[in-house]
Amino acid sequence: MLALKLLNVVAPAYFLCISLVTFVLQLFLFVPSMFRDPSTTPLLSPALLHGALFLFLSANALGNYILVIHNSPEDLGQCLNLGGGAEVVADWSDGSRATGSALPSTHFCRLCARVTQRHDHHCFFTGNCIGSRNMRNFIMFCLYTSLACLDSLVAGVAYISAVLSVSFANPLAFLTLLPHSISQFFSGALLSSEMFVILMLYLWLGIGLACAGFCCHQMLLILRGQTRYQVRKGMVVRARPWRKNLQDVFGKRWLLGLLIPVLNVGSDYHRQKDK
Ligand SMILES: [Zn+2]
Repeated sequence: MLALKLLNVVAPAYFLCISLVTFVLQLFLFVPSMFRDPSTTPLLSPALLHGALFLFLSANALGNYILVIHNSPEDLGQCLNLGGGAEVVADWSDGSRATGSALPSTHFCRLCARVTQRHDHHCFFTGNCIGSRNMRNFIMFCLYTSLACLDSLVAGVAYISAVLSVSFANPLAFLTLLPHSISQFFSGALLSSEMFVILMLYLWLGIGLACAGFCCHQMLLILRGQTRYQVRKGMVVRARPWRKNLQDVFGKRWLLGLLIPVLNVGSDYHRQKDK
């Protein structure tokens, strides 16, 4: 439990550090290096377009990160005045698994110390439970983090190929880049800043692919109307049309909610609650 509590603090700090480093590298290294290309027009220069794209992606990633925390699932134990006693809460957690439970899919998270409805999983990077209230923001957070990482990867590859005159035409060049760079770094032929950017390329690739995979997996569960908690516990879910399942998370205008991140379509859960 202590290890999990530690991870709950370390993971958000790790995410914020990576975000800060990415932001600094993009705005103070990659984008200025693109301005040096004399063949481009000043107005529609790739540097400006790339800078605007990166700011859009990172604003959505960070905005949804904050909203995941802000919209974290409410504590049902407190809402129904059941008291904060761990025993009462623990009974609920067990009861949710029984047939005909009055509160299906409720779960007590030991890290957040609260009972949440339609619990999906506990996200260590946000330090919060993911449930019906913040699922939409969580999907958007994964999607935009993945896109921001892949955007940074492309910009980083362009920077390294220009600075070190490395060609990435051969797909195997990316595989041989790291061992080759490490040997060059220890022989003194490569600057530490260049080595750092190369290491970041692999980190962006890893985070980008992991977030994209996680986002796809989560979307598949949403379409099936399942949560990760239900899958883990082997709970049987009533079959519903996939559109209804999407509406539960992304609201009635689910297609707009998916396409336009800033549009506050909310979920049906919010709408019912606001009435
Ligand atoms: Zn939790």
